[in-house]
Amino acid sequence: MPPRVSRTAEWPFSSIDARGEDHSTKAAVAGPESYPRAVHHPPPARHGRADVAVIGGGIIGCAAAAIMADRGARVILVEGSAIGAGASGRNLGAIQHPFDPVLAPLYAESLTRYRALADMSDAGFSLGREPAGLLLLNHDLDAAARQAVRLQAAVPELHPRLLDPDAVVALEPSLARGPAAVRLATGFPVPPASATEAWARLAEERGAQLLVGSPGHPRRRDGRVIGVALDDGTQIDAEAVLVAAGPWSPRLVDPDGGWDRIRATYGVTVQLDLGEAAPRHIVEEDDLDGINRADAATERAAGADESDPPSLFSIASAGGVSTLGSTFLPDEPDPTGIEMLLTRRAAAFMPAVAEATVVGRRMCARPQSVDGRPFIGPVPGVSGLFVCTGHGPWGISTGPASAAIAARAVLDSTAPPVELDAARPI
Ligand SMILES: Cc1cc2nc3c(=O)[nH]c(=O)nc-3n(C[C@H](O)[C@H](O)[C@H](O)COP(=O)(O)OP(=O)(O)OC[C@H]3O[C@@H](n4cnc5c(N)ncnc54)[C@H](O)[C@@H]3O)c2cc1C
Repeated sequence: MPPRVSRTAEWPFSSIDARGEDHSTKAAVAGPESYPRAVHHPPPARHGRADVAVIGGGIIGCAAAAIMADRGARVILVEGSAIGAGASGRNLGAIQHPFDPVLAPLYAESLTRYRALADMSDAGFSLGREPAGLLLLNHDLDAAARQAVRLQAAVPELHPRLLDPDAVVALEPSLARGPAAVRLATGFPVPPASATEAWARLAEERGAQLLVGSPGHPRRRDGRVIGVALDDGTQIDAEAVLVAAGPWSPRLVDPDGGWDRIRATYGVTVQLDLGEAAPRHIVEEDDLDGINRADAATERAAGADESDPPSLFSIASAGGVSTLGSTFLPDEPDPTGIEMLLTRRAAAFMPAVAEATVVGRRMCARPQSVDGRPFIGPVPGVSGLFVCTGHGPWGISTGPASAAIAARAVLDSTAPPVELDAARPI
């Protein structure tokens, strides 16, 4: 039995509910007084009760908690470390088209959800009205031309435009003259942790309780889930548990190791103050295969020289900080060595990187699914247990829509799309 909820309509697409309250985007954006105030459940001390317990405070867990709490479900989210402690706080900060026809609608829906979040007066999150644009750099003009033709056929809505080396520097003066590029009408740069933090705030605002600081795992009895046990001894009773723990999800779904659908692919990013030289576009070395099929990238990395692993130049600037990426590595690397590698390689594309002040360095793992698409929905064989993970390099771009699919699976027993179903054969 799914948990009972008071609203069938879903923020920000909702409108008038059974009690006559307007929960539409318009109402939500009007200001805090127009939507239900936060209902803070008392801290559970050593025992809590929820309709749904969510494990993981990344973009998926926080967005799912907000969406379910808005529908009236009593939600407790447990985060073992800190909100955005994983990739959701340490990504590049690019909300962009994922170049996959199954994931593209999730990107479009996530953009709508992000706009509603940004339009809320107190969200602390902003998104440009128009995409900054994505430049895919290629040293081979013919290869760039072929890519432009391919992308025109695959994603005409992104208006791919071939740029020769002169046009590239005219459009993005921070780049060195050399590579050609394909410009695409996608890419919204945001401070990397800002989306997750905004979803977490909305979740609390809508009444979800966030318990941060102690990891948890699903409690099971007689083939069904009965709640979550935290390492600090707290027990939470819940009718349903949603595992949204990124690359840590497999062991929570199946402690015996039978749910082996996610690989960790480690990425290091370097935060730079580039001043006036900060790029306006999101800029990436053109290797869509490496980005879309991170398993291919990690295979390449596995055989490579450890001191010189493959990386893809990518950079996005938001809030006065440029984030430079990244690697796709199967094992946790030494981030200091990778920092030097990334800045050296990037300086060949963007000379100002060589002189820029380094203001930070981050490392974390992407939850890379074995077939490139997330796993969402009920876990077969354990009643009440759900999962939503496997977004690889696209979790910020597509995560809010995935979270909504997971929320509907939990609250309404709605089946996820077959291509994303957690139970699909692989
Ligand atoms: C370098 C890099 C750059 C990226 N750039 C982009 C980008 O520009 N655009 C984009 O769309 N995507 C990007 N991504 C991918 C994106 O960041 C991820 O797909 C997304 O953040 C995954 O979100 P998640 O919520 O599934 O997992 P996570 O962010 O990993 O969150 C899982 C959370 O669960 C917690 N947790 C784990 N185990 C437990 C437990 N037992 N109990 C309680 N809590 C637990 C963790 O502490 C963590 O906070 C990038 C990733 C990397 C690594």
